[in-house]
Amino acid sequence: MKYETVIGLEVHAQLLTNSKLFCSCRVKFGSEPNSEVCPICLGMPGVLPVINRRAVEYAVKMALATDCTVNEKSVFSRKNYFYPDLPKGYQVSQFDLPVAEHGHIDIELGDPRKDETEIKRIGITRIHMEEDAGKLIHGEGADDKDISYVDLNRTGTALIEIVSEPDMRNPEEASAYLKTIRDILLYLGICDGNMQEGSFRCDANISIRPVGQKELGTRTELKNMNSFKFIRDALNYEIQRHIDVIEGGEKIIQETRLFDVQKGVTRSMRGKEEAHDYRYHPEPDLLPLIVPNELIEKARGEMPELPTEKKNRFMDEYKLPIYDAGVLTGSKEMAKYFEESLTASCKLSGIPEEEKPKQAKITSNWVMGELTALLKENSLDISECKVTPKSLAELINMVSKDTISGKVAKDVLGEMFSSDKSAEEIVKEKGLVQISDTGELSAVIDKILSDNADSVEKYKAGKTKLMGFFVGEVMKATKGQANPGVASKLIKDKLG
Ligand SMILES: [Zn+2]
Repeated sequence: MKYETVIGLEVHAQLLTNSKLFCSCRVKFGSEPNSEVCPICLGMPGVLPVINRRAVEYAVKMALATDCTVNEKSVFSRKNYFYPDLPKGYQVSQFDLPVAEHGHIDIELGDPRKDETEIKRIGITRIHMEEDAGKLIHGEGADDKDISYVDLNRTGTALIEIVSEPDMRNPEEASAYLKTIRDILLYLGICDGNMQEGSFRCDANISIRPVGQKELGTRTELKNMNSFKFIRDALNYEIQRHIDVIEGGEKIIQETRLFDVQKGVTRSMRGKEEAHDYRYHPEPDLLPLIVPNELIEKARGEMPELPTEKKNRFMDEYKLPIYDAGVLTGSKEMAKYFEESLTASCKLSGIPEEEKPKQAKITSNWVMGELTALLKENSLDISECKVTPKSLAELINMVSKDTISGKVAKDVLGEMFSSDKSAEEIVKEKGLVQISDTGELSAVIDKILSDNADSVEKYKAGKTKLMGFFVGEVMKATKGQANPGVASKLIKDKLG
């Protein structure tokens, strides 16, 4: 029997507001436990919540970015359950009337390196706003007894939950969907996307059905996964588990499961009978949320160029391959760096508009190649890069003007990365200017040819591939400073 997997995802994204959703407490990760709290987020009796306008604006931006309809009126509800990190005994969320619904995003599947990609549209069921709960920290107390601490700093922080349609068919699609959602949030600047700190987390609903069957199989829910790898591993494990259960003649039980990161397995957390009956009811302390048209239009006016738009523009305007465009628009900061460097380099060399694509590819190679490698080596983000876009442009231009060879340029970039010096200063200081002078190179080549008489014989006998070897020797002898083009021409002349 062949099975088809059906996956729907619920993403919780913590909004980058300065204060919490219904009170003025600061939102700050890593503060002293229970220091960022007040009577409202502690759930004291008699207090009244007030909605954070910025949080509404952010939710509206996400709605616009995912082509959702923003509901003019939405309602906050109490979701009742008890947990030690939820002092009120209920979470304020949205239930039957969310802030936005009926949207979609396009995800890219396949291998952009081979230029084999396809676009798939994934439906967004709804986006709703809610407050976050606190955190439990499990540790050891006095007498080595296990103890759990409650930190309520996170309580009341603004979240949006983005619920997808069950449109994904395998873990790769789920992964691409999550990455796309995360990129959009980051481009909008409304969530930091930090999975480790829990500001971007995901639950998955998963089921399988025989290929061709319309109705959905029984689903299980995987809770709170906080890395792309865990999500993929958990989904893969769960798919196989479903298949094994069904092939074994048994039935899947609808339940919530947790992924055990250490063992790589999912485990039952609670079954359907233990499922919470949240007894949702409208929050009596909050009026319905009315989103005026002005707010939507203001948000629309502030929308940045989103990742897909930017990527398409890079392919269109700079004629970059899809792979380059994808990598360069992987983050807003990377895209900005690339464009600034390209603009600077075109300006430096007086490159006309129609030749910009050629320079774009050269710049792209440097940014995606050497620069990214250096950033990785030093565990730095592009926003922390010491080499400014303009300095990189200067370096690139020294190569295109044959002032230095490509090989030397790589070393110079390494040096720029760890010092405050410009490419020009480093090249001058170390005397790295490319040797294009035929007289100087001729002497070096003569020596190499006489030292390698065998190879010269073989070359003359028709083994012309040895040219690479000779040029390599010249580069070695000149510590990478020889102009390889000039060198190979000279060698050719000399060997007749
Ligand atoms: Zn508070």
